[in-house]
Amino acid sequence: MTPVWAWVLQGYGSLMNERGMSGRREGGLHVEKLRRYVTKALESVFDDAVLVRTSEVYTAPWVRMKCQFGCGWYGKSLTCPPHTPTPAEMRLVLDSYTHAILLHRNWREGRQDVSEFHDALLDLEMTLFFDGYYKALGMGTGPCKRCESCNTSGHCVRGDRARPSMEACGIDVFQTAQRQGLSLRVLTGREDERHSCGLVLVE
Ligand code: SF4
Repeated sequence: MTPVWAWVLQGYGSLMNERGMSGRREGGLHVEKLRRYVTKALESVFDDAVLVRTSEVYTAPWVRMKCQFGCGWYGKSLTCPPHTPTPAEMRLVLDSYTHAILLHRNWREGRQDVSEFHDALLDLEMTLFFDGYYKALGMGTGPCKRCESCNTSGHCVRGDRARPSMEACGIDVFQTAQRQGLSLRVLTGREDERHSCGLVLVE
């Protein structure tokens, strides 16, 4: 079975020399252009959007353990471990990009619909892609709930819309967000305000 994330690791590799592309795109103009997409994100459903270097997106071995021993979704969605990249595999993916747009949204009253978050994240990914950022790839929050029951014994039936969460791929979301000044904290009760984070990788 090909996991839903597998296309990240294949398909685009032969399009061009990435080091050469990266070298040309390191300049301030490239960053300035990417900042326009941060503005676009802030005009949609997100409370915060920050352009970060992928070296500021942290992976850690313990994150996968939290999925396996602490989350009832382990193995139940193609966007969750063990179907998703390990932290080490994700580090390689992150290091094949220069930048990412980190997205954050509070779950205030009337905002409990996480599909709105994912749809806006995919819109941003698609906008970047059609503007020529062909490597653009979004990562959302939590398990994918697009189908009533996930097709875990086969292929994803909505691979065009399904994206793994940051944490499902071994990203330390807390550290990544807190280093950018986003105030995530551990929830201590169901009434606590929740937060969602996502990421769009881009180069
Ligand atoms: S779109 Fe459906 S099959 Fe694909 S990961 Fe989501 S729930 Fe599973």
